[in-house]
Formats: sequence, C-alpha cells, structure tokens
Amino acid sequence: MIYNFNNKDEKEVFYQKHINTAFDYILIGSGPASYVLHEYLKKQNKKILVIEKGNISIKENIPQSNKESLISNDNLKIKKDSKVSAIGGAGNVWAGVSSYIEKIEMFSRWGPYKNLWPINHSEIINYYKKFKSKYGFMVIDQLKDLNKENRDNGVYRKRNFYFLIKPFRFNLLSNYTGTKFLINAKVNYLDQINNKNYVELDNKIKIFSKKIIICCGGLETNFLILRSLKNGRLKNADNKSIAGKFFMDHPKFFVGTTFASKQNSKLLENISLKKNASSYTYKGISLSKKIQINQKMLNSYVRFEKYFYINLKNKIKKNKLNIKNYINLILFIIYKIFNKEHLLEIYKITLYNEMIPSKNNKIIYQKINGKEKFKISYKFSNIEFNTINFLIKILQSKIGLTINKNNFSKKNLQKVLSDSSHHMGGTIMGKNKKNSFVNKNLEIYGAKNIFICSTSVFPTSGSFNPTMTLCSLAIRLARYLNSKS
Ligand SMILES: Cc1cc2nc3c(=O)[nH]c(=O)nc-3n(C[C@H](O)[C@H](O)[C@H](O)COP(=O)(O)OP(=O)(O)OC[C@H]3O[C@@H](n4cnc5c(N)ncnc54)[C@H](O)[C@@H]3O)c2cc1C
Repeated sequence: MIYNFNNKDEKEVFYQKHINTAFDYILIGSGPASYVLHEYLKKQNKKILVIEKGNISIKENIPQSNKESLISNDNLKIKKDSKVSAIGGAGNVWAGVSSYIEKIEMFSRWGPYKNLWPINHSEIINYYKKFKSKYGFMVIDQLKDLNKENRDNGVYRKRNFYFLIKPFRFNLLSNYTGTKFLINAKVNYLDQINNKNYVELDNKIKIFSKKIIICCGGLETNFLILRSLKNGRLKNADNKSIAGKFFMDHPKFFVGTTFASKQNSKLLENISLKKNASSYTYKGISLSKKIQINQKMLNSYVRFEKYFYINLKNKIKKNKLNIKNYINLILFIIYKIFNKEHLLEIYKITLYNEMIPSKNNKIIYQKINGKEKFKISYKFSNIEFNTINFLIKILQSKIGLTINKNNFSKKNLQKVLSDSSHHMGGTIMGKNKKNSFVNKNLEIYGAKNIFICSTSVFPTSGSFNPTMTLCSLAIRLARYLNSKS
C-alpha cells in the first residue's frame, strides 16, 4: 500500500491508521540496499514500513523541502545526478557495472597489512553466490575470474568489469506487496526515547519501530546521522565523533589519449569494451598485488575507451560532418580496405582512483544563517598521488603508451578530478567501537536496533563498483535479523 505524502488526505489517512502501529522494521530509503533487504525480510511476514523521500519515478519532481543542501570542496565536485531520489534510488540511473571486491582491497596496504573489515573476504564472496543471475550482477563470470585471480605479470594485471545492456533497476513495486510504503516522505531525524527507537518525519511526527534500518545511500545516510546527532538525537550512539569521517569515493580523471602501436595493439584491442548478446565487458589495468603491498600503492585502475571510430560514427549519425571528419571518413575507408583500420584508432584513458580511509576526509554538518548545509572536505594523500604516477609510468614503460597529455602534478590533478558517484565511508563498520560507528552486524554501537545498510559502512573503498558488495551486505543483514526474530 503506497501513501503519497504530497497528498494531504493520504498523509492524514496513514497517520490515523498507523501513528500507534509498532512496526517490526522501518527501512529508510528504497534504493538497491533497501530493495534487497526487503525481499529477504518480508519472507517472515513482518510489519514493514518503507519510507522514501522521492517520488514513484525519477520523472516526477520531489518537494523542495525533501532536498539536501550540499557544498562540495574545491578538490571534488559531487555531481548533482549522483544522488537520485525515487523508488529504486540511484539504481534508476546506475550503469549496472559489477566487479567483485578483491581481498587486498579490504586490507590496508599503506600501513600494517591487515583486514580493516570486520568480515572475511570469503564470506562476502559467498553472499555474491546468492544472487546467481538476480539483479543483473553477472556473478557466474566473476566467480570464474576469481578462481584464476593471479594473472599478475609482476607489475600490472588486468581486471574484468561486466554490465548488462539493460541493467536491473531495483524499482519493481511488486516487491512491496503487503508492505506500507510512504513516498515524498523525508525522515529528518532518528530518535531514541526511553530506549525505544523512532523515525521523525517532517511534521515532527514520530513513528516507532522495533528495528530501524537506514538505507539512504552513501551520502544521505551520513546526512541523516549527522543531523540527528547535531540536534541532540541518537543520544545512545557510542562514537559520535567519528560520524562523517573517512569519506571516500572513486574520483576519476582523464589521463589523455593514446594510439595502438605494434607492441600494444593486441593488448588495447583486448581490454577495450566488447558487446555481447545482452551484456558488455571491459578490462581495467591495476598494479600487481605484490607492488601494492610492498610499495604502499593502491588498486586504482585505468580504463581504455575506443574513440576514433565511435566518435566518427556519432558524427555521421548526427549529420555533423565537417572537413576534418570527411578526411577521417575517407582515411577510415582506405584503411578498412587494407584491413588496417586499428592503426587509426584513438583510445581515451581514464583513471579511477582508490582512496585510503583518512579521518581528515569528512562530511561536515553546518548551520549557516539558520540554514542547514553539508560540506564535503577532502584531499588526496601522497599514497593516491604516488599510485597515479607509478601507474602512468608503467603504462608508458611496460605497455609502451604514448600519452598525449602529461600534466599529472598534484595541483593539476586536484583540479581535474570528478566524482564517480560511489560515495563510501562516514559511518564505517569495525570490530572496535573506538574507531568505527557500526559493528559487524551493521548495528550502530550503543544505539541498539538501529542498523545502517549503505556504502557509508565500507571501511575501505577499493576501486570496485560498490553495489554488488552492498547488496551482499544487505542479504547478510537480513539473514542476521531473520535469525534473531
Ligand atoms: C550515474 C550513476 C552510475 C552508477 N553506476 C554504478 C555502476 O555501474 N556500478 C555500481 O556498482 N554502482 C554504480 N553506481 C552507484 C550505485 O547507484 C549505488 O551504489 C547504489 O544506488 C547505492 O544504493 P543504496 O540503496 O545504498 O542508495 P541509493 O540508491 O542512493 O538510494 C537511497 C534512497 O534513499 C532515499 N533517501 C535518502 N535520504 C532519505 C531520507 N532522509 N528519508 C527518506 N528517504 C531518503 C533517496 O531518495 C534514495 O531513493 C552509480 C551511481 C550513479 C549515480
């Protein structure tokens, strides 16, 4: 049953019927994490309420009062469309690329080599197996890759990325039969009164639930927690000072372009995007595990995209042929006749960065002239810069790339980084409540029965696409909760 809070009558009906209902679960947000959790929790016929501040689809606007005010810092601009409000969350626009978390990505390579996650790698991999072909994660191909993992040649290695031509969108309303579902309803605060947990909606109405699960996405989970803490709610949380800290993303930048040479044409052909019947694959290049561990480097990777032919095809499609493009077209036809068209190809190179978890990279809650704002303050450390420079040197020396752009100074890089919509950290999980916000079961330390299921709990960022791992944490949490009830 859906109640649209834009409609006063529907809101009133919900409050009249449910203001005193004791829900078993309230799920805040309805993106991929919430979708998967709900699918597993509903098996036990519990009273579930899902609260989504967005509308039924991304085509409809959401009320201004439900939007958040975000200031990015000078070094990183958070893209507007990296936060999506609607049933299905950012799953409505995501590319659907999946890549598994590698074991080294859970471990600190910049200090003593140890697992920073309170979970083993094998456990996460076992949860991937539960998806099979569900949610479009292409798990079977990835498990094959995992089995032949050590493709290191000593310096660099290739990693596979997969995605369906039509990604799964996590917005099927049929998933929610029997569940109460609020749309256009923003949760402003989480509150605890006499050890009971409540969500507080825009008009200060509190709804009780035995368990609350925050699934608001990597950024907005932080916003909700920080707003609650800074306004005197969530008093029982143990480690208030850590909230918002250890923010991470996979900031990317355009490295430059390159051409295929005799030495590397096969490699470039092999690693660029391939279209299969219903999916795409491409490869990235990262440093070898040995180098990362021994030389304190990260798992950042470069991706190559064919440019010449695709660009020309688009220009022809759009009827935008100028003299330069005509010459290119004639050249292409001539080279094609002699089967040498690969020599004309230009490859665009993009570098996707892993970030180390640092307490100086954080989301900050501010009130300026009575108006609430969230600020992201973040910088790369030398570890990220060293990795970039090392990786680029390897591309040049080992792969023989001539890169047509070479300003990789700290100053220049900070300017050209753009966010890649993989927001992580801020409410990190850990074994020790002194340096984490949630425990290994994703329950907030000190705030019993309030859980967080979003990428904000990741203690390291790696450079893998995060949603498949997030959904495996959702299954893990649902199984834990089902086993307790
Ligand atoms: C353009 C783009 C491309 C991407 N491509 C990939 C990819 O290829 N592979 C990959 O793995 N990941 C990708 N991602 C990231 C992926 O979309 C996220 O990891 C995933 O959506 C996170 O799921 P979630 O459920 O945690 O949160 P979200 O999808 O962010 O959903 C959170 C929901 O909570 C709601 N909400 C927030 N605050 C409140 C509140 N206070 N009250 C009520 N509701 C609230 C929001 O409106 C939203 O609907 C991409 C993201 C973008 C933007």
